Amino acid sequence: MLTKSQEYKSLNIKRMKKHNFFAGPSILPQFTIENTAKAIHEFADMGLSLMEISHRSKQFVTVVDEATALFKELLNIPEGYSVIFLGGGASTQFAMIPFNLMNKKAAYLNTGAWAKKSIKEAKLFGEVDVVGSSEDKNFAYIPKGYTIPADADYFHITTNNTIYGTEIKEDLYSNVPLVADMSSDIFSRPIDVSKYGIIYGGAQKNLAPAGVTFVIIKNDLLGKVDHSIPTMLNYQTHIDKESMFNTPPVVPIFAALQTLKWLKAKGGVAKMNEINLMKAGLLYDEIDRNPLFKGSVLNIEDRSIMNICFVMNEGYEKHEADFFTFATEKGMVGIKGHRSVGGFRASTYNALPVESVQALVIAMQDFEKKI
Ligand SMILES: *Cc1c(COP(=O)(O)O)cnc(C)c1O
Repeated sequence: MLTKSQEYKSLNIKRMKKHNFFAGPSILPQFTIENTAKAIHEFADMGLSLMEISHRSKQFVTVVDEATALFKELLNIPEGYSVIFLGGGASTQFAMIPFNLMNKKAAYLNTGAWAKKSIKEAKLFGEVDVVGSSEDKNFAYIPKGYTIPADADYFHITTNNTIYGTEIKEDLYSNVPLVADMSSDIFSRPIDVSKYGIIYGGAQKNLAPAGVTFVIIKNDLLGKVDHSIPTMLNYQTHIDKESMFNTPPVVPIFAALQTLKWLKAKGGVAKMNEINLMKAGLLYDEIDRNPLFKGSVLNIEDRSIMNICFVMNEGYEKHEADFFTFATEKGMVGIKGHRSVGGFRASTYNALPVESVQALVIAMQDFEKKI
């Protein structure tokens, strides 16, 4: 038998302070972590853990309702749209989107590995018109000047390409319903939701721990396909039951609500955008100034403000491993670039404090002096 104090002793965790630049799962606000930890102990004065309650308890239904309402409030989502929370990750959406929207044909923009995966799934349902691609340059830019066929059922984009550090930072105009994977830039800036048919993403980049997927859907897009859709893969099922058709990911949804509350208290997405631009600006300025490094995205205007990719400049390639060790010794984690790009990637999601970006900039400057 464990005594009460033994049971709880392990909870006095002192986390070593790290600068967390991981691309996903990634840094979350301390507010989210602490409130979720508390609720895992005892949720809503029920004398039970968040992990052992019914998802249909009124206390948890309130959590889903609040999270849905805050989603709508923070993103200024207009009437006629639903917000749902699902399992399966953004990757399941790659199939759910064509399953729910495609009769014959859809248009896709190929901006990276995630876009390619979504294209692969869509091809199972019909004709896919890849209207633009940056694969020729390992996805180091955002294709422009393409035409979206008017007979496409929808046009799919990935607004932020987590692996390559490119981002579509404005709301594109599309003559057919626009579908956007915003896994890694949702809540990083204000968006005009009315320009989109569907916005979706896994929560584990900028919102919550892994396990919950958000989908924002314009209701009148549904019910138009000729084939039948399995119940669990039909958006209408989850809209009708307000994310409660089956057991939703309870703990990640609770955590998402904490992040949404934190976001609101911080001043919302407009304020976040200001801070994110400032953080990204600090780091890009150093990348451009420091002769040891160079940005890996070809056009300045395509640079992501969430995932900042850089490599060693010509002549300095041999110092890559040393810089990695140098930064690691200074408490930086998660700065290794994705294997398909190499170099470094610093993810500067909402929860990353400016101090962490400053610490990385100083490490880059100190490394320059050292070698
Ligand atoms: C991480 C990521 C995904 C995959 O998300 P899962 O939830 O793991 O399926 C999809 N798209 C983008 C842009 C991502 O960054």
